[in-house]
Amino acid sequence: MQFQEATTLEEKLNVMKIMSERFFARAAKVDVEASFPFENIEELKASGYTQLTLPKEFGGEEITLYELVRLQEQIAIGDGATALSIGWHMGILKNLAEKRIWSEEVYKRIVEDVKKGALLNGAASEPQTGSPTRGGKPTTTATKTGKGWVLNGRKTFTTMSPVLDYFIVSASVIDSDVVGNFLVRRSLPGVEIEETWDSIAMRGTGSHDLVLKDVVVESEDFVERFVPGKKSANGWMLHIPACYLGIAQAAQKYAIAFAKSYSPNSISGTISDIPTVQQRIGEMELTILEAKHFLYSVAKQWDSSTEEERLRLNAELGAVKHSVTNKAFHVVDLAMRVVGARSLSQQNPLQRYYRDVRAGLHNPPMDDMTIQILAKKAIASN
Ligand SMILES: Cc1cc2nc3c(=O)[nH]c(=O)nc-3n(C[C@H](O)[C@H](O)[C@H](O)COP(=O)(O)OP(=O)(O)OC[C@H]3O[C@@H](n4cnc5c(N)ncnc54)[C@H](O)[C@@H]3O)c2cc1C
Repeated sequence: MQFQEATTLEEKLNVMKIMSERFFARAAKVDVEASFPFENIEELKASGYTQLTLPKEFGGEEITLYELVRLQEQIAIGDGATALSIGWHMGILKNLAEKRIWSEEVYKRIVEDVKKGALLNGAASEPQTGSPTRGGKPTTTATKTGKGWVLNGRKTFTTMSPVLDYFIVSASVIDSDVVGNFLVRRSLPGVEIEETWDSIAMRGTGSHDLVLKDVVVESEDFVERFVPGKKSANGWMLHIPACYLGIAQAAQKYAIAFAKSYSPNSISGTISDIPTVQQRIGEMELTILEAKHFLYSVAKQWDSSTEEERLRLNAELGAVKHSVTNKAFHVVDLAMRVVGARSLSQQNPLQRYYRDVRAGLHNPPMDDMTIQILAKKAIASN
């Protein structure tokens, strides 16, 4: 079954579950080789998934944020790197559908390309500016020419770079205070990928450097202006905690299967009968339940809010990311304690989850910024 035939969320989740099991089967090899899950991305495209956040008026399904996080979570149960990779594309398209920040002409062109399988992601991070959420001005430059703009610079952490068709590149307009996003087609002269991704976490995301050398883009491809560090509330970023929650559930599943089958000769039965093991399994379940309820309720709140109400959800969105990601971290730790030293074996998926879940700390928004926002909100309202 493809996504076009899956009308309910349950049906869509079933389609994703089948794919996600295949992603799991491929994950260890991609991780060891630090390669890229090309097959997974191709399957997601062929299934129709990569079009699900396009608006109905352009032939898409316009799935809700709640549906998106559920589906992303299911991908991550199979493979976190695939989930984080495709999550950027899905989320960015959802954001564009909701906010219509680009000109109608450019947006329609992208929608048509996405229907043919095109993939996009933002290239915002840089060696000198670090996380763009901190408010640093991009060192990548845009210079006005007769034809349009000339871009020069280097972006780090460009997830999914092996297969992206478009990069949304942040740059500073030379000799001005203007900062904005430029839509850059992969095939343009001067666009290069340097394979720098050597992270121990999320090794299969292909988050290499994007290097731009005198890349000429059309005037209309200057798609958006913004003030660094001052982006509005972004519901779509909940694909990030959804990813880490999926990894946590994969760890829980593995630990429980292990506990139900491991029977050392010091006991009769399996270790799942032992109170200390049950304590950890119970704690994992409690933590996952808390994470799910928080994530789902804020996603649903976003879906049912007006544009104006959504602006006020910024603190909650950050809180969800903080809480769910750290909870996912805790669940993976508990799962490893249930399994014991075998969890550290290279053959064991738990060691991959342990490394992958750690990447969540360095996806936006950063924990310290969220706590600051929550503190200011609490002080202002009490
Ligand atoms: C798996 C993965 C995928 C990613 N995918 C993408 C992507 O597709 N596109 C993209 O653009 N980016 C992506 N990123 C990059 C990400 O959004 C961050 O830009 C990147 O992780 C760097 O963040 P940082 O906090 O380590 O860096 P920095 O901002 O350099 O911070 C390093 C440390 O310095 C401190 N610090 C720095 N500045 C400040 C400040 N102003 N105030 C307080 N403390 C500060 C903090 O303690 C921080 O821990 C990805 C990252 C990861 C891990």
